[in-house]
Amino acid sequence: MSAVANDILDPEVAVRAGASLKIDNLSRHYGDVRAVDNLNLEIPAGTFLTLLGASGCGKSTTLSLVAGLDKPTGGRIYLGEQDITDLPPNERGMAMVFQSYALYPHMTVAENIAFGLKLRRRPKAEIAARVQAVAATLDLSHLLERRPSQLSGGQQQRVGLGRALVKQPRVFLLDEPFSNLDAALRARMRTEIKHLHLRLGTTTVFVTHDQEEAMSLSDLIAVMKGGQVVQFGTQDDIYTRPSTLYVATFVGRPRMSLLQGKVVRAGASATFVAPGLSLPLGDAATLGLSSIASDADVVLGLRAEDVRVHPTAEATPESPTATLIPAIVVLIEPMGSDTFVELQIGSQSIVARVAPRAGFALGDQVWVEVAPARCHFFDATTEARLGP
Ligand code: ADP
Ligand code: MG
Repeated sequence: MSAVANDILDPEVAVRAGASLKIDNLSRHYGDVRAVDNLNLEIPAGTFLTLLGASGCGKSTTLSLVAGLDKPTGGRIYLGEQDITDLPPNERGMAMVFQSYALYPHMTVAENIAFGLKLRRRPKAEIAARVQAVAATLDLSHLLERRPSQLSGGQQQRVGLGRALVKQPRVFLLDEPFSNLDAALRARMRTEIKHLHLRLGTTTVFVTHDQEEAMSLSDLIAVMKGGQVVQFGTQDDIYTRPSTLYVATFVGRPRMSLLQGKVVRAGASATFVAPGLSLPLGDAATLGLSSIASDADVVLGLRAEDVRVHPTAEATPESPTATLIPAIVVLIEPMGSDTFVELQIGSQSIVARVAPRAGFALGDQVWVEVAPARCHFFDATTEARLGP
């Protein structure tokens, strides 16, 4: 993409791009189905926010409500200071891009991009200039006379983006825009969207069920479940301090390993105990475990990169006092830059990231080291995070 900035087209854009969005107790019920259920979100101006969640959690419904394509059964939506809940879609200053590009097959790329401006009866010269600028931004200038059937999937989706961009919206709404593209193209479009957002700074709400896409793109992520936001924060917050077991296992690949067990307390210190494993945790208060009863059922979560695997039970110079847990290698998954090994501990298993060609073999007896500060603890009943 070339460096033609959208603000060349309209000096007001830089100002208009600064639109914050506030979603206040928003609901959309279909009879008994609570597609969106008392959802609250504050999206600062210029933010790239992702709604992340499994299929059916209410992402598209939320986006349609924001766009004005659907009416809420409760709650309000504010753009900046303005209550836009009852405003028709074309007066909201938003542009939406869908999963299916839905281009007009009989129109050229240029006509597809220009369509929205023609509807608004903008002068011909202005339309031509804006289409040229958007085409240059999206690297479509050489394709303007083609029809959609003569374009690749990635090019078609770029035209879809162009149709949104040319409207110079205050908010971009993108509903799984890359899910029809193959993996390589998705990754490239992801980079392009990120560059575009850095350049234009338009407030963006992006919807995806792909946690990797969400992590790589977003300033802020709202993880959704059952029509509600279960956690709202930066990529780092969500990855390092997941608020529930659901978020912990939805975000991150490989999936966070979980061990069922008990926290046994003795005075100030705590030990995690499960079949085949006893892990001294040190001071319970530091880990936020002082409020739970001794012998309480907990789930211990571990990211693959926080598990160290040693071939022998000898203490290592870096951590001479670490507890080493015996384990058996039951699966090896080489991924190129990393290798993931599944390790059986008692009747449960965890996944560790090791260096490629680390030399582990199936059936090997190994020794696992985990730092208590790297352990995530969840209440086994409520599934809520325990501790900081
Ligand atoms: P997502 O985009 O996260 O996959 P949706 O917002 O499309 O989820 O849907 C959320 C829930 O609302 C789903 O259970 C879906 O079946 C339901 N739903 C969506 N639209 C309708 C509708 N028009 N009538 C009844 N239920 C609907
Ligand atoms: Mg959807």
